[in-house]
Amino acid sequence: MNVLVVGGAGYIGSHCVRQLIAAGHRPVVLDNLVFGYRAAVAADVPFYSVNLGNESEVGKILKKEKIDLVMHFAAYAYVGESVTDPLKYYFNNVAATLHLLRCMMGCGVKKFVFSSTCATYGIPEKMPLVETMPQAPINPYGQTKLDIENALKSFAHAYGLSFAAFRYFNAAGAAEDGTIGECHNPETHLIPLVIDAAVGKRENVQVFGTDYPTPDGTCLRDYVHVDDLSRAHIAVFDKLDQPGTALFYNLGTGTPTSVLEVIHAVEKVTGKKVPYITGPRRAGDPPALYADSTKAKTELNWEPHFKTIEPIVASAWKWHSQNPDGFKK
Ligand code: UDP
Repeated sequence: MNVLVVGGAGYIGSHCVRQLIAAGHRPVVLDNLVFGYRAAVAADVPFYSVNLGNESEVGKILKKEKIDLVMHFAAYAYVGESVTDPLKYYFNNVAATLHLLRCMMGCGVKKFVFSSTCATYGIPEKMPLVETMPQAPINPYGQTKLDIENALKSFAHAYGLSFAAFRYFNAAGAAEDGTIGECHNPETHLIPLVIDAAVGKRENVQVFGTDYPTPDGTCLRDYVHVDDLSRAHIAVFDKLDQPGTALFYNLGTGTPTSVLEVIHAVEKVTGKKVPYITGPRRAGDPPALYADSTKAKTELNWEPHFKTIEPIVASAWKWHSQNPDGFKK
């Protein structure tokens, strides 16, 4: 299939582009390069640097490249910033996505794969999380993703759009050859920060909270490898032939890993001591978040290749050690 990957130069999008090629599809990338890196996408992949608000340009691309399906990864994803500057998040994550969808409907492109998040659940009452649990986001970032999930449901009903929304847990790791990986500026995610502390790029890493009701007192998260996420996005293609299909899937390994366990995994993989300090809880952090991904496993025959934290960290380490300064802008 000809697949437009919106945000294809970003962290998850660029890994998905690789997996699309490996699965025999033809990716075309659209990325405005605000957060993406041109170097994250192979030179021979068609690449367009366009804003989604420019519907006439996006429409031309859909037609010229004979796009069958659109994958949408382009979003702002800093939870704290979404609280202090929600307009930025509503414009980029909601308004821009609506432009894209209107453009698709106008061009008759009616298959869509959407990058959603477990942040749409807010602070859940029970673990592990299943797709049918209530969604009550506690920050604008999660709300913008839920707004689009809801818009998609209406569009499936009204316009025959077929879509799958994947609610990711903690995307982590890097391509197995170490040539692309996680590169955010600023970086706020745990694994890259711990690696930076291990190699001395940061003085230390701070553990946000040690008094949670968890076995070692630190937060539990479900780290899932970025290539495993990508494979699920491709496995769903077969399910989108019927117009009006609306699918939602959690994607995680189901294995809860604590902040201290991540630090220990980085120490083991790198052979270096990680200097860390303990600090107060970060506002809005639920004690534990992990997925029940039975639905994706049963319906998509999806099985994460990376089931535990160590090999995930090892792949992140390979990327980091081969590219200590990340991508060049
Ligand atoms: N975390 C931490 N120190 C940091 C960054 C993150 O202790 O410098 C913790 C955070 O509280 C959470 C986990 O690591 O429990 C994962 O955080 P991250 O920001 O990577 O992802 P999130 O779960 O917020 O999407």
